Amino acid sequence: MEPLRQEPQSAQSHPNRKDKNAARVGHPASWAALAGLLLIAAWTVPAQQAAEPQLFSQSAQAVLERDFPSPDLSYLLLDASGKVLAERWATQQAVSPGSLVKPFLVIAYGEQHGGRFPTVRCLGTESRCWLPRGHGNLGLEEAITQSCNAYFLQLATGLDRQHAAQTLARYGLSGPAADAAAENLAGLGDAWKETPLAWAKAYLQLVNEQQSPVQSRIVKGMLDSAKRGTARSVDAALGRNAALAKTGTAACSHTPQGAADGFTVVLYPAARPRLLLLVRVHGVTGAESTRVAGAMLRSLGGGEQ
Ligand SMILES: [Zn+2]
Repeated sequence: MEPLRQEPQSAQSHPNRKDKNAARVGHPASWAALAGLLLIAAWTVPAQQAAEPQLFSQSAQAVLERDFPSPDLSYLLLDASGKVLAERWATQQAVSPGSLVKPFLVIAYGEQHGGRFPTVRCLGTESRCWLPRGHGNLGLEEAITQSCNAYFLQLATGLDRQHAAQTLARYGLSGPAADAAAENLAGLGDAWKETPLAWAKAYLQLVNEQQSPVQSRIVKGMLDSAKRGTARSVDAALGRNAALAKTGTAACSHTPQGAADGFTVVLYPAARPRLLLLVRVHGVTGAESTRVAGAMLRSLGGGEQ
C-alpha cells in the first residue's frame, strides 16, 4: 500500500485534508518534522508523555497527516484510557467492520457455554470461509489468528440473542438487531453497525480484561494474528510479538463503490498496550489494510528503532 504514503508537498494540496496544525503555525512540514522528534522522545520517556498529553496528541495528529494523507484512509488513534489522540474519520457514522466483530461474539458465546469452545472443521468455500481451500480443524485461538469464517459461523448458530445483547452492552456495543441473521454476529452481512469509537473502546476493554480466561485466549489469537495470521504485516513493520491485532473485510460503503473496505485494529505494544489504532482503508481487504496500520505506528515511533 505504498501509494498511501506521500511526500508532504502532495499532502498539503489535498482538498479534503483537515489542516488544523498547518493553519495554526503556517509551516506544516517543518512542524511535522519537529513533532516527529518529540513523538519519538515521548515513546522512550513514558513519564514525559504523561506530563505532556496535549503535546503528544498534537504530534501524533501532525505526523499522521504528513505521512498518510490519502483520502482512502480513515483512522482513530486512542491512548489506553480511551482518549482520542488523533483521528480522521469523515463522520462518526456507525460502520460494519467485518471480522472485527468476532472477538465479541466469542465473549458472548463463552458466557453461554461455560467458557468452553469447540473444535471446528473448515472446508473453505463450502463452509463460507474466505480461504477457498479451508483451514481444516481449528480451535478458538487459531480461528482468531486466521479469522476463519466457518468457526465463527458455528459459534453464532444457536446463540441466545437476548443474552448476547446483554454481554455486548457491557462493552458499549448495541449488537445487530434481534431479527438480523445470526451470520451478522460472525461479521458476515452488514446488520451489525457501531461507531468507530465504540469499536475502538470495546477492544480497549477486552484487552484490559485479559486476566479473564476467555479474554486471554482472544488476546493470544490477536498476538498470533500480528505474528503470522491475517495481520502479519503489523509485526513485519514493528518487530516480533510487537502488537495485538485483528483484521476485518467489509462491503465497501463509499461512492463510487470499491471491491471492499479493509479494517484493522492494532494495540501496541503487545505486552502492555499504550495505543490503539483503528484503520479503515477503502478498496482493499482487511489483510492489506494491516500494512497501512503497521506503517502508521512505525511512523509514530513504534517498532524497533
Ligand atoms: Zn476457514
